[in-house]
Amino acid sequence: METGKIYDVAVIGTGVFGAWTARQLRLKGQRVIVVDAYGPSNSLSSSGGETRVIRMGYGQDEMYTLWSVRALSLWKEFFLQSGEDLFLPTGVLWLAEEGNAYVTACQETLQKAQVKTEKLSRQELAKRFPQIALDGVSWGLYEPESGVVMARRAVQLVVRETLKQGVDYLQGAVQAPAGQGQVTSVVTRNGETIRAGFFVFACGAWLPKIFPALLGDRILPTRQEVFFFRPPAGDVQFRVPAFPAWNCRADQIYGLPDIENRGVKFALMRHGPAIDPDTAERTVKVESAIAIREYIGCRLPALKGAPLLESRVCQYENTSSRDFLIDRHPAFSNVWLVGGGSGHGFKHGPVLGEYVAERILAGGEIEPRFSLATKTHDKECTFS
Ligand SMILES: Cc1cc2nc3c(=O)[nH]c(=O)nc-3n(C[C@H](O)[C@H](O)[C@H](O)COP(=O)(O)OP(=O)(O)OC[C@H]3O[C@@H](n4cnc5c(N)ncnc54)[C@H](O)[C@@H]3O)c2cc1C
Repeated sequence: METGKIYDVAVIGTGVFGAWTARQLRLKGQRVIVVDAYGPSNSLSSSGGETRVIRMGYGQDEMYTLWSVRALSLWKEFFLQSGEDLFLPTGVLWLAEEGNAYVTACQETLQKAQVKTEKLSRQELAKRFPQIALDGVSWGLYEPESGVVMARRAVQLVVRETLKQGVDYLQGAVQAPAGQGQVTSVVTRNGETIRAGFFVFACGAWLPKIFPALLGDRILPTRQEVFFFRPPAGDVQFRVPAFPAWNCRADQIYGLPDIENRGVKFALMRHGPAIDPDTAERTVKVESAIAIREYIGCRLPALKGAPLLESRVCQYENTSSRDFLIDRHPAFSNVWLVGGGSGHGFKHGPVLGEYVAERILAGGEIEPRFSLATKTHDKECTFS
């Protein structure tokens, strides 16, 4: 890092939100530095998982559906430019019981947005996905063009490609600015000073630790467990294209196919207990593994008794409404807070970065759903 250099923007945090914000700012000609305490898409970060799903369905929520549509096209464009394709068009399957209002709304919104979908009857589901036992399921909604991003590698690729375009990188834990008004520099715990015109704190689950008075009870990090189970030897029924990414809201569970021979992935759609992202032990609870194995033995009978191959503990950084936080810090005119991915943010990285870059450079009203004012202090978060 060049000493004494003054950047247009310093982006703190190189998870998917910070990485794409830095990239979009650089594409708009800004002099940018990115800083991360543990390194781009590290194992503690929410973006550091192996895989993340890109789905278009968001119930009747048109805004996030439209963001997903644009984000997928930006991800694909980026992979094409970089020469490394980290998107797998696995398809995304919603399993629904009779009258499921959310999945019905997904279908209506996706039709309106001209996203390709297929409504599958129980009989069609049984024929197309014989791996799945359909107890309690009466129909499905299939998004054939949605899929999975190799998350950790994708974010690291975004950072690498962006550094090649002249962005600087520093490994360091940035401290919150003090006082109020215009901030001219921030300091890392090791004493390095970073000077810039704007500062974007895209620090995921660390935001409430960095700004405890402001965000301590507005962003709630929760502990989320992820499991990979062994498919039967020689069996390809849980691989792409035979098996899609899928979810069942009634069971509060979602899964991914066996990608890169890592095993068939499962996770719960409900929030775990509160977590400290720095100090948490990253091992899953034995009782969770047992419960999930019991479930998959019923839903995917060929996996009955399958051994657990791998597991991970990650965190969501939830806001009360699950809407992202994108707003200025009320005490500092040039400090932006970007986070609140709330378990669904990964896919939106490219569009979120574009949005943040535009707000910083061109100003304009913040979408009310992203504003700090709409982030209430209640800790009950719902799934969307
Ligand atoms: C198990 C799990 C499954 C998920 N599944 C999906 C999915 O299928 N689809 C989807 O779209 N989304 C999904 N998500 C959500 C998505 O992964 C997150 O919303 C997204 O990764 C958040 O990115 P971020 O950049 O805000 O935070 P992070 O990725 O956590 O990045 C924050 C970064 O800030 C750095 N940092 C922190 N403090 C400092 C400091 N003081 N100084 C410098 N750097 C600092 C950290 O080291 C870290 O690298 C899932 C999340 C989890 C946990």
